[in-house]
Amino acid sequence: MKQPKIKTKLPGPKASKLIDEDNAFMSPSYTRTYPLVVDKAKGVWVQDVDGNEFLDFTAGIAVCSTGHCHPRVVRTIKEQAENLLHMAGTDFYYVPQISLAKKLSSLFPDGTNHKVYFGCTGAEAVEAAFKLARQHTKRELNIAFFGSFHGRTMGALSLTASKTIQKKNYNPLVPGITHVPYGYCYRCPYDHSYPQCGAECAHWIEDTLFRTTMPPEEVAAIFVEPIQGEGGCVVPPPEFHRALSNIAKKYGILLVADEVQSGMGRTGKMFAMEHFGVVPDIVTLAKGIASGLPLGAMIARAEIMDWEAGSHSSTFGGNPVSCQAALTTIQLIEEELMANVNVQGQHLLNGLNALQGVYECMGDVRGKGLMVGVEFVKDRKTKERATEWRDEIIMKAFQKGLLLLGCGENSIRFSPPLTVTSDEVDVCVSILDEAIKEVAG
Ligand code: PMP
Repeated sequence: MKQPKIKTKLPGPKASKLIDEDNAFMSPSYTRTYPLVVDKAKGVWVQDVDGNEFLDFTAGIAVCSTGHCHPRVVRTIKEQAENLLHMAGTDFYYVPQISLAKKLSSLFPDGTNHKVYFGCTGAEAVEAAFKLARQHTKRELNIAFFGSFHGRTMGALSLTASKTIQKKNYNPLVPGITHVPYGYCYRCPYDHSYPQCGAECAHWIEDTLFRTTMPPEEVAAIFVEPIQGEGGCVVPPPEFHRALSNIAKKYGILLVADEVQSGMGRTGKMFAMEHFGVVPDIVTLAKGIASGLPLGAMIARAEIMDWEAGSHSSTFGGNPVSCQAALTTIQLIEEELMANVNVQGQHLLNGLNALQGVYECMGDVRGKGLMVGVEFVKDRKTKERATEWRDEIIMKAFQKGLLLLGCGENSIRFSPPLTVTSDEVDVCVSILDEAIKEVAG
């Protein structure tokens, strides 16, 4: 079984020198959790500039869905790069953009015709959804959820409610957005327990908000992540999204599913909303869609995407190389990866659940497919957040050659490439076991 290989102290000599240079020349706004300076990567293995080899359970923040540098994706990119690098899909036509839009439209289970707007990032996809919702409904108000992350451009940031630092000094943001509690059963905002609660978290919008402060006929859209990613890998109760969808339909509000992190097979279905039996009006995608090339997509039913020529566009959106990489990515997901996600996701949950039986500090283990999180607590009864332990566990795992990232205030997320094998999941769980034992065992 292949294991990580750590040959130097971390960071090694080359990495240390490069980090000093980075500190001198790069924006200090980034949040580097540990000193990893990447040289190259293949599959789920990442090599740093000093020759150390790490097992990657981050996939570059849930982006390298087909594994680092999948040979078929690399081939497709090379072939496309020989033919056409850029021609501005906003002003001209070309085949990869049309083919990808057609393919994305076909992925919707309701069989209706969908149209696609392409950008380069998740924030751009959300920004486009935000603008389209206003254009289409001619309404000014919007609903989003506490704990949500939708991006960092001013519109997307206005919808985001993840960490105060992301908003500090940026006010005033776009007005008219009301944040409401998400369906977060482990820390139920209403102190109820499931299923007796009747998914009050969703019904509160209609029962309280619409009766007191927010006229529903003025609401353009509800923006929601099917599973909150940055917010802590939070899976809402099964009825949550159906209730939201019913409320949206009743008042002519658009339901926007931000699938930037949860989409493209990561949860074992092409879109995570499929787990909840809901077809949203608008879907935003990015991250895993093109295996690492920059691409964002906002997809809406054709009758909703009715904005006029000139109302929105972006020079690099729908870059032909990114579109071609996305077409191959989708092919791989459909042909083989989705089945693997379901098997390995369950295997990972089994491993983490077994560890939870040993370590008190693992308060909650949750997820779907390969979008999995563990919430660390000081005490299972009080659920006091163990943020420092979480941070130390991630650092220990790094020193042992396992790459992990945090999410929420006190959770670790597991989002490996969708190509991950059972052996690699076992290596991850066994390193995590050692790291937790050393920090909080
Ligand atoms: N939406 C969600 C659900 C996300 O997780 C993210 C990124 N973490 C974004 C939007 C923003 O994506 P990007 O960083 O590509 O702008």
